[in-house]
Formats: sequence, structure tokens, C-alpha cells
Amino acid sequence: MQTFRFDLCELPEETRGLREEVRAFLDEELKHIPAVTRAQTWSGHDAAFSAKMGARGWIGMRWPKKYGGHERSAFDRYVVLEELLAAGAPVGAHWIGDRQSGPLLLNFGTEEQRQLVLPKVAKGECFLCIGMSEPDSGSDLAATRTKAEKVEGGYRVNGTKLWTSGANEAHYMIALLRTDPEKKHDGLTQFLIDLKSPGITIRPIMDLAGNSHFNEVVFVDVFVPDSMLVGSEGSGWKQVGAELAFERSGPERYLSSYLLMKELIRELAKRGGDEGAKEVGRLIAHLVTLRQMSLSVAGMLDQGENPALEASVVKDLGAVFEQDMPVKAHELLGAEPTIGSGDDLHQVLGYLTQTVPSFSLRGGTREILRGIIARGLGLR
Ligand SMILES: Cc1cc2nc3c(=O)[nH]c(=O)nc-3n(C[C@H](O)[C@H](O)[C@H](O)COP(=O)(O)OP(=O)(O)OC[C@H]3O[C@@H](n4cnc5c(N)ncnc54)[C@H](O)[C@@H]3O)c2cc1C
Repeated sequence: MQTFRFDLCELPEETRGLREEVRAFLDEELKHIPAVTRAQTWSGHDAAFSAKMGARGWIGMRWPKKYGGHERSAFDRYVVLEELLAAGAPVGAHWIGDRQSGPLLLNFGTEEQRQLVLPKVAKGECFLCIGMSEPDSGSDLAATRTKAEKVEGGYRVNGTKLWTSGANEAHYMIALLRTDPEKKHDGLTQFLIDLKSPGITIRPIMDLAGNSHFNEVVFVDVFVPDSMLVGSEGSGWKQVGAELAFERSGPERYLSSYLLMKELIRELAKRGGDEGAKEVGRLIAHLVTLRQMSLSVAGMLDQGENPALEASVVKDLGAVFEQDMPVKAHELLGAEPTIGSGDDLHQVLGYLTQTVPSFSLRGGTREILRGIIARGLGLR
């Protein structure tokens, strides 16, 4: 039987200075943003904030300089991400490009594609979205139907992508499309699609909390030039597999409820008592363990490995931790969620109570992740 591998990984001492720098920047930038808005963290879209991040050199930190990157270490990048999420910075606009589409293009994209997109992404001026899910293929991604038919000089795309985060604000989509209806996995191909192309309609979908982060994206006879095929025809499935390890293991997979955790600890500290201290100890122990696991995956990704199994473990356990936070606030404080009124604790609780159910759907559902873990362990 196979096992997980989570090598211990410490952040080097030299990252301390960077952490202080990011913290000071965020203290200033976020001081007027209410806690309930900051609770959106990596769902919050703010193009001006992304441009400031770009100017600081905090997007594309790992990428080669010739693509606008900064050739910093994986640990430097991790520190910046942690601080952004812990403070509740509105990083949604550039998050996907920085986290996964940039690395995807560095791994499989052409020189033209990289030059077209990466320098602008690193400046915080160009945003990407991920077109995987469709009306009839979410978990079963291999059932992707949106088709790209070969025509002179490129492909004609028809179909619908669903739940596409940030498509309404993005410039490009990395889309997984069916290029061969006869083959299942090997009939899928990735494309870099300019969302201004004629024939694309983007309709925002309102979520339970009243925000429109995700969208339906309809393609009708959209022409995508040959030069925008990412990797090779038929390799989309394999490429997506590598990309998902980036998507599933970062600090956003256990810090999405961090603002509520801070409010909870603040309130418990005010009340005092052993019971509260014990609970805080438990929460911190979970958080620190998840952080170690996530750091370990970051280290493996940096070594060019594909830790899909370990990333799925981080995502699944992280979602359990994040989803439990509103329950904990209710159990420990007797707090009830409020919307549009109340103090920071109650409003953040209100926002997260409505949002946490999606944490075990986005990026792969709990059942699918556990299936991957079981397969990785040789149990199915
Ligand atoms: C906030 C949010 C943002 C998102 N952003 C994006 C995005 O940017 N890009 C994108 O492409 N997608 C995005 N998604 C879509 C997300 O990836 C899908 O919702 C997810 O993969 C599940 O697909 P589905 O909604 O079609 O549900 P289904 O696949 O229909 O699943 C329904 C239920 O059945 C269960 N199930 C399905 N198959 C199995 C199985 N084989 N065994 C056991 N149980 C099973 C699932 O676990 C789930 O509970 C987003 C979703 C959310 C909530």
C-alpha cells in the first residue's frame, strides 16, 4: 500500500523581513476595509489592489524575469500568500493567474503565449479564469463537451462553461475543450482564449451571499487561432492533472475562515476561562498542522514533483477546518450570524455561514478528493 509523504519544511529565517514588509503594506492598504469585506479574501476582486501587488513584485514571484517574474524562492511566495490571506486582502483578480495559469503556461505554453500574458499578469494588469466545469461535467471532468473543431488556421468553439470564477472580470480563460469526440481523456485539449473574442457571452451568477463571483460562459462559433492551443492536442487531461495540485494545496485551502478565527479568539480572550483557552489551543494545533502539510506540498511542487495525492489531502482536511469555524463560533460563543448589521464577529460569521458550504465544492468536491486519496493509497 502507498502512503502520503509530507516532509517537514521550515520557512527560512530570511523570509522574516519580507513578512514584516508585506504586513506593513497591508496594515496601510486595508485599514479602511471592513472585516466583513476582508472575509472574502481570495474571492474579493480589486484591480487597483492587484496593480499595487504587481508594482511591489508580489505576483509571479517564482517566474523567470524574462516573463515579468521575480525569480524569488517558493518560501518567499508562501510568506506573501499567507500574509495576504490572513489579513483578508482582495486578491481574487490576480489569484488564478498567479497560482495556476501562469505556472501552466510556463510548463506547457508557447513562447508567444507566455509573452502575451505573463508580463501583464505579473504587473497585476491581466486576469485569467479557469474554464473546466460545464453544466453536465463538474466532478466528471472527462465528460467535457464544449467542443473545439478544427477549421482553417484554428478551431471553432461551441458550448458552455459553468461556475467560472472571475470570468466577468478576466481577460483570458484557460479552457479545457473537446477536440476529439471519439476519445475520452485523450480527446481533451487546453486553449488560451481571449474573452473579447466575438461569440462569447459571460453571464454572472449570484451566489447565496449575494455576490457574483462565478459565471456562465457561452461560446457560439468562437474562433480560436492555432497559436492559442496550450501544450499539444489531446494532452489537456494530463496537463489539467498537474495544474490541480497547484489549485488544491495553497494556504487559501485552510485560511478562508481565518478572519472569523481571529474574531473568535479575540472574543474568547475577552471572556477568559480554561475552556476557551483549550479550544483556541485545538484550533491553533489544527492550523499549524495544515500549514505544515501545505508547505510540504509547496516544497514538492517546487522540486517539479506532482503531489496530487498530498494536495488532495490538504484541500479536503483544510475545507473541514474552514467549514467548522462558523459552527465553533456558535458553539463557543453562542454567536448568531448577522447580515448588514452587528459587530465584526457577527457580520463575518454571517458572511462565512453563507459561504462555507462552497469550500468543499470549489476546486473539487469532498467525495471526489476522497476518491483520489483512496486511489492514491491503492484502496480502490
Ligand atoms: C465557489 C465556486 C467556484 C468555482 N469556480 C470554478 C472555476 O473557476 N472554474 C471551474 O471550472 N469550475 C469552478 N467551480 C465548479 C466546481 O469545480 C464544481 O462545482 C465541482 O467540480 C463539482 O461539480 P458540479 O457542481 O457539476 O457537481 P456534480 O459533479 O454534479 O456533483 C454533485 C454531487 O455529487 C457528488 N459526486 C459526483 N460524482 C461523484 C462520484 N463519482 N462519487 C461520489 N460522489 C460524486 C459530488 O461530490 C457532489 O456532492 C466552482 C465552484 C464553486 C462552488
